[in-house]
Amino acid sequence: MKAITPHYIDGKFVEPHGREVMDSINPTNNTVIGRVTLADEEDARRAIAAAKRAIASFGGTSKEERAAVLRGLHEVVTARIHDLTAAMVEEYGGVVQFSKLIVQMAANSFLHAEKALQELPLLRTSGKTTISLAPVGIAGLITAWNSNALFICLKLASALAAGCTVVVKPSELSSLQTQILLECLHEAKLPRGVYNVVTGLGNTVGAELVRNPDVSKISFTGSVAVGQQIMRDGAATMKRVTLELGGKSPNILLDDVNLDEAIPRSLAIAFLNSGQAGAAGTRLLVPRSRLDEIKQRIVAVMATMPVGDPGKKETAVGPMVTRKHYDRVESYIRKGIEDGAEVLVGGEGHPEGLEAGNFVKPTIFVNVTNDMTIAQEEIFGPVLSVIAYDTEEEAIKIANDSRYGLHAFVSGNDLQRTRRVASQILAGRVAINGMLDDPQAPWGGFKLSGVGREFGAFGIEAFLEPRAVLE
Ligand code: NAD
Repeated sequence: MKAITPHYIDGKFVEPHGREVMDSINPTNNTVIGRVTLADEEDARRAIAAAKRAIASFGGTSKEERAAVLRGLHEVVTARIHDLTAAMVEEYGGVVQFSKLIVQMAANSFLHAEKALQELPLLRTSGKTTISLAPVGIAGLITAWNSNALFICLKLASALAAGCTVVVKPSELSSLQTQILLECLHEAKLPRGVYNVVTGLGNTVGAELVRNPDVSKISFTGSVAVGQQIMRDGAATMKRVTLELGGKSPNILLDDVNLDEAIPRSLAIAFLNSGQAGAAGTRLLVPRSRLDEIKQRIVAVMATMPVGDPGKKETAVGPMVTRKHYDRVESYIRKGIEDGAEVLVGGEGHPEGLEAGNFVKPTIFVNVTNDMTIAQEEIFGPVLSVIAYDTEEEAIKIANDSRYGLHAFVSGNDLQRTRRVASQILAGRVAINGMLDDPQAPWGGFKLSGVGREFGAFGIEAFLEPRAVLE
């Protein structure tokens, strides 16, 4: 049995004070791949103390010194892209093509943060007043499991760019990936205590970071319920918070859209990370006038999107992260059927031959109305709701009729019209004619999708406090 050590405090790997042991399970076949002893509150306090000792000098570093740190981190993570990808496939069933992309993004996030830092004026003047942007202090970075390396690297890059020292609490479902990432980071030989990582449960290690008065900022990626708890519990010590939460992203196809391109793209967007992504376009809004044609094309394209072994490069949809999450996704498929939606593709149960793993059938519902549970709640699995609309105004109304506002997609042939529609969608990012990325563009949500933004200058500013000196 492989022992996993995803704990790093004050410049070295440590055995935790915590004694609770957890198995790491491969969701493709439900075999145990390793065992981790989880950290506890005492470990979190030790990590916070190390970050506190380090902030005195790291908080005073120059832009150039921090830029050098970021370049070094990019180098060490890049060197292990292959290993990190393999761990992502093994530990949570990330489809290999997607996993590679995410790990590459993780490594590059250090360079993107460096660019943003170089362009960010940290010293400004207003008349005789000098305004400096100072590091906010010690940052607690709490991440979800579904893109572990990316979330850790992205948050770490922004926090270090700002001059903060950090304690990371990765998801307890990502221990193997975290250990490999730590081996990379260790190679960068940063000063002790600048970053510390304690892998433990949310209600122990996570809760300690949120309540500890020495932590000034929490940057969190995860569910709405936990985000709300962090906001409530963090209020006692006036925590600054960035909360990256759930989504139910609409994907609007306008009636002049080229379906040859739009249907394969829409299905790839819906099944992004096997549907386990807040940004996945899980509500497909289509013109009723083209509904029949769209349904036929969906069925045809789905036949070319295999579900199965995430390690194979042709696989489009892999397993759900845990057996519990499999059950949750299945319950939503059942609910969709009970509520009267029609299964166009997929349905309940495992795909044939894949019973040993947490595989669900990628499922596409038609005859969905936007008030149905499957159209309103985040399922976090490969379940797509196709919703028909009659007019452009109705499409916008349906897109915005959601508690979430993380991401949206609009496709159409007339760029002016597509832009006009995009400008009316309440979402942190709206992508026109594609699944697009801009590493300097802000990422984050309207409404229940969260508070604050990551990436680029917005991401770094989230770890800075303005200090004005008046003469
Ligand atoms: P989760 O909320 O269950 O857990 C997220 C993290 O919070 C984990 O590390 C967990 O241990 C920790 N945590 C749990 N309870 C805590 C507490 N009381 N105090 C502090 N920390 C605590 O979410 P998950 O299942 O890991 O991830 C899936 C969710 O994340 C989905 O809702 C998804 O939409 C969201 N997500 C959002 C984005 C985004 O960019 N907006 C990206 C990925 C995932």
